[in-house]
Amino acid sequence: MELMYKSTRSEAYKVTASEAILKGLADDGGLFMPVQIPKLDVTLEALKDMSYQETAYVVMKQFLTDFTEEELKSCIEKAYDDKFDTETIAPLAKVEDTYYLELFHGATIAFKDMALSILPHLLTTSAKKNQVKNEIVILTATSGDTGKAALAGFADVEGTKIIVFYPKNGVSKVQELQMVTQKGDNTSVVAIHGNFDCAQSGVKAIFENKELAKEMAEKGYQFSSANSINIGRLVPQIVYYVYAYAKLLQNGEIEAGEEMNVVVPTGNFGNILAAYFAKQMGMPIGKLICASNENKVLFDFFETGVYDKNREFILTISPSMDILISSNLERLIYLIAGCDASKNRELMEALKEKGAYALTDEMKENLSDFAAGYATEKEVKEKIADTYAKTGYVMDTHTAVAASVYEKYAKESKDARKTVIASTASPYKFARSVMTSIDKKYDEVEEFDLIDTLEVLSGVDAPKAIEEIRNAKILHTLECDADKMEETVKKILIN
Ligand SMILES: *Cc1c(COP(=O)(O)O)cnc(C)c1O
Repeated sequence: MELMYKSTRSEAYKVTASEAILKGLADDGGLFMPVQIPKLDVTLEALKDMSYQETAYVVMKQFLTDFTEEELKSCIEKAYDDKFDTETIAPLAKVEDTYYLELFHGATIAFKDMALSILPHLLTTSAKKNQVKNEIVILTATSGDTGKAALAGFADVEGTKIIVFYPKNGVSKVQELQMVTQKGDNTSVVAIHGNFDCAQSGVKAIFENKELAKEMAEKGYQFSSANSINIGRLVPQIVYYVYAYAKLLQNGEIEAGEEMNVVVPTGNFGNILAAYFAKQMGMPIGKLICASNENKVLFDFFETGVYDKNREFILTISPSMDILISSNLERLIYLIAGCDASKNRELMEALKEKGAYALTDEMKENLSDFAAGYATEKEVKEKIADTYAKTGYVMDTHTAVAASVYEKYAKESKDARKTVIASTASPYKFARSVMTSIDKKYDEVEEFDLIDTLEVLSGVDAPKAIEEIRNAKILHTLECDADKMEETVKKILIN
């Protein structure tokens, strides 16, 4: 039976998985949700010995029911190959009594690779299935990680072009170098004279411009999105939680059916929502622990039942979590409202108008699978330094938010279940913050010298992604004012 998808904001219409992937966002501004979350149809015993790719297939086939076995397996094979620096794709590292699920072994050394290496294939397959003849143009605004992962994913994928906009002075040195050295004839990178919000608003305006869409269609192009609201990003992220449990089982760390907790450093709420889906599919997952940095809008939400983005935006050393509107939270709101689209729409309208909304008591009760915490900048730095001193393991700043939150949670709750921490970036991607957390003296050291030192400290070789940018040629030098983005897109596509 076909699993259909509907919007979180209306009952109006249903689409297939491939249609939902192509559209990204529903026409009413809602996010696509499957009409029910499917159960896994394999036993834990069977999962135990599966490769990452095999696990991906048994999980994803439950959601993408209009893909044939051949289509889905082909997407999986093209995605999870030697772009990853380990055959296990998402290894589990045991450090003291906790397990770090390392999601940063892909091409751009952050967890966005887990979904963005398969999304281009899901998208082009969906285009074929729906007889889309136009070339698909992916537009992305990025504050750093998503842009590079999307570029790497879409580079040289037939039938697609990708254009990434980033704030000229708003990304780290490594992040900028990673983007402007991107190869692939179908890739473009543009630096915006403005901040991330300018880039984001500019991209949204292009999406909403019906005239432009018509003009582009005449030239054989249609726009699409690689943002984390696309169901084609959420579904692949469920896989590694299923896989992590199976690895614990295989290694004899857990008994079949025994629950594991999951801790996720959270920004847009996509990654932790995937863990929640894994639990709904039937995996023995206990608590889902949502970890925030000093932008603790989610922590406050879980504490009080009130979501309120009216607060100061804080720049932290875990920039990929610096976010005040967690767009994927809408899917959870919809679920805890009993799949009531009108209730969800009411709250989302309040968020848009007043920047805040409050849950009903009944909705609050449906949040018992979750726990939440936050870590201050000082705690994050201490966690990196302490773990390194005690064990030699070096973690990045985002992972350290989760590790710090977990330490406090375990102490307060006495919850002794086995716990997996989602490790979302390589420490090499945030070398400066990581190294100065270990010792302030590194603040004086030049970027690539820091990387050499990190190799010595951690005993882990610098990943290929870092070596590549050391001497890579700058291939993208386009810049534009924030109000010239549409013109720039036209210039790139029509030249
Ligand atoms: C995107 C990102 C996050 C946040 O993930 P969400 O799915 O947005 O909650 C955490 N850490 C890193 C390194 C990221 O790139």
